[in-house]
Amino acid sequence: MSQLTTTSTTAMQRLPKRLSRLGELAGNLLWSWRPASRELFSRLDPELWQQTEHNPVRLLEETENLEAAAEDAGFVAAYHEAISDLDRYLNRRNTWTDYVYPEARDSGGVAYFSAEFGLHESVPIYSGGLGVLAGDHVKSASDLGFPLVGVGILYAQGYFRQRLDSSGRQSEVYEPFEPESRPLAPALDEFGRPVTVGVNLPGRELRLKVWRVEVGRVSVLLLDADIPENTPEDRELTSRLYGGDNRTRITQEIVLGIGGVRALKRVGLTPAVYHMNEGHAAFLAIERMRELVAVGRSFEQAQEEVRRSTVFTTHTPVPAGHDAFTGDLLWEFMTGWPEALGTDGHSFWLLGAKEGDDRFNMTYLAMNLSRNTNAVSEIHGDVSTEMLGRRITYITNGVHTWSWLSSEMFSLFNENSLGRAWREAPETPSAWSFVEELPPESVWRTHEAAKRKMIDFINDRLDLQAERSGGKRQALDPDALVIGFARRFATYKRATLLLSDPERLKAITRAADRPVQFLFAGKAHPADEPGKAFLRDLYSAPEETGIIVLEDYDMNIARYLVQGVDVWMNNPRRPLEASGTSGQKAALNGIPNFSVLDGWWPEAYNGKNGWAIGEEREFASEAEQDAEDVASLYEILENDLVPLFFSRDNSGVPGGWVDFMKESIMTVAPRFSTQRMVQDYIHKLYSPGLYARR
Ligand SMILES: *Cc1c(COP(=O)(O)O)cnc(C)c1O
Repeated sequence: MSQLTTTSTTAMQRLPKRLSRLGELAGNLLWSWRPASRELFSRLDPELWQQTEHNPVRLLEETENLEAAAEDAGFVAAYHEAISDLDRYLNRRNTWTDYVYPEARDSGGVAYFSAEFGLHESVPIYSGGLGVLAGDHVKSASDLGFPLVGVGILYAQGYFRQRLDSSGRQSEVYEPFEPESRPLAPALDEFGRPVTVGVNLPGRELRLKVWRVEVGRVSVLLLDADIPENTPEDRELTSRLYGGDNRTRITQEIVLGIGGVRALKRVGLTPAVYHMNEGHAAFLAIERMRELVAVGRSFEQAQEEVRRSTVFTTHTPVPAGHDAFTGDLLWEFMTGWPEALGTDGHSFWLLGAKEGDDRFNMTYLAMNLSRNTNAVSEIHGDVSTEMLGRRITYITNGVHTWSWLSSEMFSLFNENSLGRAWREAPETPSAWSFVEELPPESVWRTHEAAKRKMIDFINDRLDLQAERSGGKRQALDPDALVIGFARRFATYKRATLLLSDPERLKAITRAADRPVQFLFAGKAHPADEPGKAFLRDLYSAPEETGIIVLEDYDMNIARYLVQGVDVWMNNPRRPLEASGTSGQKAALNGIPNFSVLDGWWPEAYNGKNGWAIGEEREFASEAEQDAEDVASLYEILENDLVPLFFSRDNSGVPGGWVDFMKESIMTVAPRFSTQRMVQDYIHKLYSPGLYARR
């Protein structure tokens, strides 16, 4: 694929000669995880940088400061530094892949399919953890020098913006996306022409434009139906992530799976391994089978070949969470496919269903057509094995260290570590041992600085929210212990658990000299009424509970929170949290977890790096489980967590607390980085397919 920087000719034409490569810097999301490049954009126009939600393309289109910056020697020097960092990064030869896995270089690599990608808030095509994981996966593949290409959908209206009214009621606002003013560009074929592909829908063809996002060394291709070749109704089929009914859903899955395979071909890529991130992408396997049958393979041979080169990651520990389509719907959309695969309707049906099932299940389809299926934590592996009736391995999720570490902690680590090991190979536990020796006062002051920055940002947002909604004014108190809880408002995550006994909660938060606040943020799916009710309940909780609800959670707010609160709380109903990753982001920044032993946390918890809510056992009823868990939650707050946080030495440093902070960083940063995770995927899941190709 040829290198095209940014589609915005407006931005490119405005650049002064001395800053001519700023467009290239903006056009590759690498800047989002290089502190010096982020700093450069912010320095160019701090206000506009905030207003545009850190979108460098719009920044360059609109700022009035370019000429002045070109005359500012300090800015120009920083610009050259950022550009040479970009060049060094893109041209580097001695990556992890070069050392450990040189064969991967010309293998064709891996195509990673996902319905959502959380790359950055300026490309809002994600709803939550699944998307952010996909984004972090792609970034680590890039850091490792591993050949991977992402495939997803460009949603013309992205995911919704959340507004809360004066009673905490959620409404959804959809904004147009304007791809031209974002860090993406049309994908081009070998002759430099923009690529479109088609997929069949009942009675017509849907045309899809293919976009490309550059993420370091890796590209992500995004399919977009919002083009003039389609009817007005069809243009809306890819408007909204997880919007619409089952017909929209199956259409989007056809776009992703079938359109995605065609798009790869059109840009000239022939991946050796296909990775389906969740069942949404499983139609990719039938498109690949169709191609093989078209060149003479039998149904069985095609199935075997596809299986050998496909891997599948499942993320959902409840059957209701898996996409499944009725026969009527499936056959309406899949007319002609059994014949194209050289088989009959019954055998086709059994690719995605068990004998007697009345629904075609995308998880079964994915499992039946992949060599390996993996879960995303050890517990989730056990739950999935039981649910799916097949041994499921696991690779525990992680987070992209560079994207989630605060600039404050980054500087502290940089100044105090010997060498670059923690930056180059964050997956190595010994690379983090310097944290043990950090002076407690430095760790604490660094945390305080990140917390102050977070409080300023959040309090501004809370003011805006109150103004817009006419609702109550809320603010974070710099002297309070701030406990963060932010994630999708799915009901199994039990956001309202701590409200079970408001009087007991008030006694905790109101104690003299020991103020405690809870900061909640998260979106409920538009159709999830119980999830929305949780938001209202929290919003209307009495002020003395210390509960604050902030609207419109996204990656930007997530970054502030996981870098600036004092504790990260998570209390899902065990064992329904497949992994969870927000707590890993927090721990990396020295923020201890206070969490139910579900998902990733039992693998990390050691009694010195945070707290475990409740017990690791099964309960007779959900009511009993909730009661036991919340009793444990209160007890820990009362007896351990709050007292430890407020026990300070003469200079105001909580020594015992800082020990928890350091232990969090040392135990979580290496093992729960996507650098470790992607290496595991390469060794355990990708390598058989890569070798088979050679
Ligand atoms: C990390 C992240 C998540 C995942 O949160 P969990 O607590 O793991 O569910 C969701 N949304 C955003 C914006 C994130 O950054």
